[in-house]
Amino acid sequence: MKKHAAREIAMERITILVAHALQEQDPLLAAAQAKLAKKIAMRFQLKLPYAIRQLYCKKCKMFIIPGKHSRVRIGRSGTKAVRITCLRCGHVYRKILK
Ligand SMILES: [Zn+2]
Repeated sequence: MKKHAAREIAMERITILVAHALQEQDPLLAAAQAKLAKKIAMRFQLKLPYAIRQLYCKKCKMFIIPGKHSRVRIGRSGTKAVRITCLRCGHVYRKILK
């Protein structure tokens, strides 16, 4: 029970950190907040929701802000897939939407 509560608090902190990072004007500060959020997730072995996971490039592991450091393309109607391009390292990955 106690452990569960700690994980819930950790998840809350991650959500807040990521929200701040997204609004942060200073890219260094944003990266620091995002890094801390990921560190907390790893420590508590939390599985981050897709909305947060997509903010980290799978290749260079950097925090990528959609529209700023990444290009998000939604496939034509019917395909239901998004293509995310990391503008830092150029890595492209796809996500099939259910
Ligand atoms: Zn990248």
